[in-house]
Amino acid sequence: AMPLVVAISTSVSAKNGLLIRNRTAFENSRKITTIIFDKTGTLTKGNFVVNQIKSTSDEFKDDEILKIAASLEKESEHPIATGILTKHEEKELDFEEISDFENLTGEGIQAKINGKSIKIVSPGYLEENNIELPKDAKNEKAETIVYLLQDKDLIGYISLADEIRDESFEAVKKLKENGLKVIMATGDNEEVAKSVSKELGLDDYYAEVLPEDKQKIIEDLQNKGEIVAMTGDGVNDAPALAKADVGIAVGSGTDVAAETADIILVNSNPMDIVYLLEFGKSTYQKMM
Ligand code: ADP
Ligand code: MG
Repeated sequence: AMPLVVAISTSVSAKNGLLIRNRTAFENSRKITTIIFDKTGTLTKGNFVVNQIKSTSDEFKDDEILKIAASLEKESEHPIATGILTKHEEKELDFEEISDFENLTGEGIQAKINGKSIKIVSPGYLEENNIELPKDAKNEKAETIVYLLQDKDLIGYISLADEIRDESFEAVKKLKENGLKVIMATGDNEEVAKSVSKELGLDDYYAEVLPEDKQKIIEDLQNKGEIVAMTGDGVNDAPALAKADVGIAVGSGTDVAAETADIILVNSNPMDIVYLLEFGKSTYQKMM
């Protein structure tokens, strides 16, 4: 049976935005030496605003790129989709008819328009598939950029800005004070990752991470003796959440992530990780 002090602590922590699904992981939380955060929606707000839409093809105008993108994004629940759809609505554009929509988990989305394959993808996807960027597609403002492909040709890109959550600053500071290494792993580009990492004073970051990389990052840290906690929201994060010593699903995420995780961060608030560590310590101190 669950010791009473643990039962009380888990219900208290639910009030603070933590749902503890696995008691052993909760017990392990006080031994964590490294925490890997995902970026979008956890360290950042996940409220993307479109700043630039650019066609790189003679076939399409900029607005047509937005229209094509929105037609696919209307099937997606990613925060990037919300940003693109808001811009599309502001411009009062209509939609293309799409078919065969698919999520490319952790890398983007794809569908068909008039029999042609269209993808909206991450920089990691471009690199993996040896698709080169035009020289003018520079990222001076450290913004998230998603790329539109028609078959294998780049036809345009959209850049979007997001903001760091207020609570992230305090959370990172407290975690570091507690002796933890604080790291971020994101599928987003190098410039964005570097800028968020610098602003928050993170110990390290991994950018342009593909779904299969996350597990490997954890494994490497564990092999160096680190006890690793990781946050994640996507279907693609499930294997890494399972691999982590403490897997933490963020509240807004998918069911698959929640079902794999040891702990659920109901409000996606990084400060709740600080509380998690404090609860873990005080709970198991009382028992000794
Ligand atoms: P993170 O690793 O920051 O949690 P995700 O795993 O959600 O990010 O997505 C990784 C990358 O895949 C995004 O930065 C983006 O480039 C691309 N991506 C994912 N979903 C979409 C989408 N619906 N539209 C466009 N790009 C997407
Ligand atoms: Mg994610």
